[in-house]
Amino acid sequence: ITDKIASLKKDEPFFSLEFFPPKTDSGMRNLYARLGRMSLLGPLFVTVTWGAGGTTAEKTTDLAVTCQQDLGLTTCMHLTCTNTPKAVIDEALNKAKACGIRNILALRGDPARDTSVSHGIGEFGHAVDLVSYIRAQYGDYFCIGVAGYPEGHADGSLEELQQDPKKDLPYLVEKVKAGADFIITQLFFDVSKFIEYEDLVRSQPELENITIIPGLLPINGYNIFQRASKLSHASIPKALLDQFPPEIQNDDDTVKEIGVDVLVKMIDQIYERKDNHIKGIHFYTLNLEKSIAHIINKSKYLSKVVAKKEVELEQEESSSDE
Ligand code: FAD
Repeated sequence: ITDKIASLKKDEPFFSLEFFPPKTDSGMRNLYARLGRMSLLGPLFVTVTWGAGGTTAEKTTDLAVTCQQDLGLTTCMHLTCTNTPKAVIDEALNKAKACGIRNILALRGDPARDTSVSHGIGEFGHAVDLVSYIRAQYGDYFCIGVAGYPEGHADGSLEELQQDPKKDLPYLVEKVKAGADFIITQLFFDVSKFIEYEDLVRSQPELENITIIPGLLPINGYNIFQRASKLSHASIPKALLDQFPPEIQNDDDTVKEIGVDVLVKMIDQIYERKDNHIKGIHFYTLNLEKSIAHIINKSKYLSKVVAKKEVELEQEESSSDE
């Protein structure tokens, strides 16, 4: 991933897409069809989520391998480490390597909801332990990403929450010193929070030039939007919330339409900040296609990626005709 980013021209934008493995075979088939269509938009890479504790280990690796091998997409497999047997982690990493996957998003994960097992049990207490382990076992084979939290990581129950990006900062430095190559952020709706975070991260000498990829969630429906913001502890600015008055909240089409414009504006704000260092945007797709395609096509920055992809496809077609 970082090699691909480095090979882009100075102001050339990119985007990446996150998918999760569906539970059923028919869900998986639908997703493959969608992936085929979404790959035509030209994502620089795709990522595949991992169920905490290894609950989706097989489905995640299968989907990641399909993306990498069958669809030819540069793929990043998420991997969480807490409360996960080392054998499960070894198997996933070995399979990824054998199938040509070169990118891992190394995460701690959360305890499975149906257990009372606390963090730290197992060999890996924090994401940094997984980053160190991957580097020790596989050298430079994998490009490693880690998570960052513009509004601070939220651990524990709501009462215990003490979100503060400054609190996480020394640990982010540790993750990068252990061998992480890039950071993908938790989703956010307040671009000013992201900008403050980027400045904070870059204030650390070890992180000054690190690749940071802001994570955005398309607004596909009012309830999903509210739920996602609660789960990720992302604040919603009042001016944004005011764009979804009660009379439209149950009208999914209108919410989506406004949501597309909200995201396009957020992307503009990210790219248009003075001395911008951000090259790409990561989308939490929730396996949905339409809003993402609208956002990308409507964004004056990301539509350049689609246009470039179209030219490449035309060239491929004409050279195969010859
Ligand atoms: P860490 O970096 O270990 O940090 C966790 C907490 O511990 C932070 O509060 C940090 O400040 C603190 N901390 C870190 N190191 C230390 C230390 N050495 N000593 C003391 N405290 C420390 N979850 C999934 O289950 N599956 C996924 O596929 C998935 N994908 C994600 C993708 C992205 C881009 C993001 C942002 C999150 C994702 N998550 C996923 C959620 C993630 O697993 C949780 O947020 C988890 O609670 C923290 O993971 P982490 O890797 O940030 O942990």
